[in-house]
Amino acid sequence: MAGRYNRSTERSGGRRRSAGPNGRIAAFIDRDNTIIEDCPYCKSRDQVRLLKGAAAGIRKLNLNGILAIVLTNQSGIGRGYFTLEQMQEVNDEMRRQLGLEGAAIDAIYFCPHRPEDMCSCRKPATGLIEMARRDFNTTDEFVIGDREEIDGEMARRASLKYGIVGSKTLLDIVDEMLVLYRKDR
Ligand SMILES: [Mg+2]
Ligand SMILES: [Zn+2]
Repeated sequence: MAGRYNRSTERSGGRRRSAGPNGRIAAFIDRDNTIIEDCPYCKSRDQVRLLKGAAAGIRKLNLNGILAIVLTNQSGIGRGYFTLEQMQEVNDEMRRQLGLEGAAIDAIYFCPHRPEDMCSCRKPATGLIEMARRDFNTTDEFVIGDREEIDGEMARRASLKYGIVGSKTLLDIVDEMLVLYRKDR
């Protein structure tokens, strides 16, 4: 049941693009402790709080035409701590709060498995990246997360640039990435 799910309000979700020069840069962004405050096995909408710089960072991605794609481990589903519907409720509330600040997520991919399931999508494995690549034509990608050994390690396995939030906000990392892309051009 690995998966991706979309809301009809998404701007880019689900549209398959042909490979070619029209692809977009994608930011692969962790959810918990990167966009929203981490609560242990977060499962209801009243627990959803955006972190400082999260909405501003995602809005800046949107304004620069960079895809904002969330990749998140949600083993609480596989462990039976919460249901798929409860995760979606949290995701919907996150999107709602981001929307109030003019920020939109293009797609969310999640791994519902437990570590012992040995799936290929639990980060730091790269299965969620591969799922996103099947749906979006990307020319370049980078990763933003809060865990060096999870998000950073996934980025290294996929040979992608990455930034870790903590002392830096999501907005700080987006700004750094934009500087790199401007230099590249
Ligand atoms: Mg996290
Ligand atoms: Zn998985």
